[in-house]
Amino acid sequence: MKDYDVIVIGAGVGGLCAGSLLAHQGRRVLVLEQSNRVGGCCSTYEHDGYHIDIGASIIEFAEVIDWAFQRMGTSIYEEVDLVPVDPTFTAKLHDGTEISFPLDLKETERVIAEVAPEDLDGWKRYAETIEGFLTAALDGFFTAPASTFGDIINLFRNTPALLKYGSLFMSSYEYVIRKYFTNEKLIEAFSFHSFYAGLPPALLPGHFSMLPYSEHHGVHYSKGGMISIPKGFQRCGERAGMKVQLESTVEKVLVENGRTAGVQLIDGTRITADIVVSNINARKLYTDMVDPQYLSRIAQKGIRSYKYSMATPMLYLCLNSEPALKDHHTLMTKPMDQVNDYWFNQYEKGRFPAEQFGILSWTTKSDPSLAPKGHHIIAVTLAPGAYRLAGTTWDAEKEGLKAAIIEHLEAKYLPGLRDQIVHAIFSTPVDFERQLLSPEGAIYALRQDLFNSLMFRPAARSRHVRGLYLVGASTHPGGGVPTVSSSGIIAADLIAKYEQ
Ligand SMILES: Cc1cc2nc3c(=O)[nH]c(=O)nc-3n(C[C@H](O)[C@H](O)[C@H](O)COP(=O)(O)OP(=O)(O)OC[C@H]3O[C@@H](n4cnc5c(N)ncnc54)[C@H](O)[C@@H]3O)c2cc1C
Repeated sequence: MKDYDVIVIGAGVGGLCAGSLLAHQGRRVLVLEQSNRVGGCCSTYEHDGYHIDIGASIIEFAEVIDWAFQRMGTSIYEEVDLVPVDPTFTAKLHDGTEISFPLDLKETERVIAEVAPEDLDGWKRYAETIEGFLTAALDGFFTAPASTFGDIINLFRNTPALLKYGSLFMSSYEYVIRKYFTNEKLIEAFSFHSFYAGLPPALLPGHFSMLPYSEHHGVHYSKGGMISIPKGFQRCGERAGMKVQLESTVEKVLVENGRTAGVQLIDGTRITADIVVSNINARKLYTDMVDPQYLSRIAQKGIRSYKYSMATPMLYLCLNSEPALKDHHTLMTKPMDQVNDYWFNQYEKGRFPAEQFGILSWTTKSDPSLAPKGHHIIAVTLAPGAYRLAGTTWDAEKEGLKAAIIEHLEAKYLPGLRDQIVHAIFSTPVDFERQLLSPEGAIYALRQDLFNSLMFRPAARSRHVRGLYLVGASTHPGGGVPTVSSSGIIAADLIAKYEQ
């Protein structure tokens, strides 16, 4: 008899979601995590009394994550203390204009009527289109496998309403936003959201233009830090016998006669199981951890052709007093043309200027208990930063860049910042890779353009090795806490179907 029925590699949200659902199917599940805590990109660590979120700073679509909890007889609202974030975000435009978008749609209409009266009609049409798309997508898209052409046909057959929105998939984020809006301030306010899916407005598929609107379905922060969400899954899984083993790095997936037989850790320990669920980057899984004899030449070539998603440096600021901010999420924006230009002329050329834009996540606004009394934390998600810098390295530039970025933030967004700083921790794409073993510091695993989506993304049920399943940002429906939770549901359903 094998040591376990299922081994999950990686305790990210996708891995813990799948692991806990599989434990509730009555399977003996072991989750192996290389780091000393769970959650991966949706995690929180303690530094001198400050509880700092590594990556994810809010969730949208709590109901999608809830579907997984409901299958285990509970709910996200019972397992995680969710705090509503309202306004959904405030945009600080390059010219100093501030626009806050309240959760309430009527209130948002009032804001738009004030900032851009000429676009009020456009906003209403955009809201109606995206609401229709979301209703259709929530109905089928999120939890249906999309690994084969047949799956895609089934997806549209079961959710015919999605067909109406086919043109969204074929256009770009920028095209859709510009179709509905003409006011440059409003367009700028919506310009950074495309990086929530890892590409600039000009390159991101148009269905992601739902992002600025979908926030009005609800934005939440989880008390105790973002780690409370994966910990909620961990607790549910442990109630059904799931085990989580930290500081255990998997080196190889063991395959016998074309079928998974377990894993080997970096210290040589072998743990056996009939089913292996991978929550790690799929390109790395197939190129480094599965014996190439199990992959055809075409498959090897196909896997190497996947591009890693963008990397993003982070600056974590621990402060001795309240920052000069109003809301949990403040977007430091640039005009859409400049955002595209940044991608093509800075990011792609390996440059990382100190005049940064991005997100200020003031987490202690939503949960003051994350820091010592009266102290605060801002996690700054900066603009995309190439893994390979031109003519230099991140390690060489780190300290100089950190000081220059803080200076810029103080001058443009956070007056008095330097006097408030107790700790400033700068995490580069190389640090991110070291911390989470995420190749090239990729924050959403693989690119999310059309040719890396749906059936073109690595399949949830491996086409190459029987008994191997994929969850997390590498597989459908892609990066994001709700979407990787859906990938956990998809994998658990496929395993229930194919692995009796
Ligand atoms: C900076 C940043 C900001 C983000 N902001 C948001 C946001 O606000 N809202 C949102 O919804 N999403 C956000 N995301 C995306 C979201 O956090 C991720 O898509 C999601 O958490 C990824 O989950 P996952 O299941 O793919 O696993 P991951 O988080 O990628 O976890 C994989 C786990 O596998 C472990 N691992 C790797 N290799 C091995 C190995 N060999 N052996 C054992 N363990 C291994 C890693 O340590 C890690 O814990 C953000 C991401 C980042 C990085």
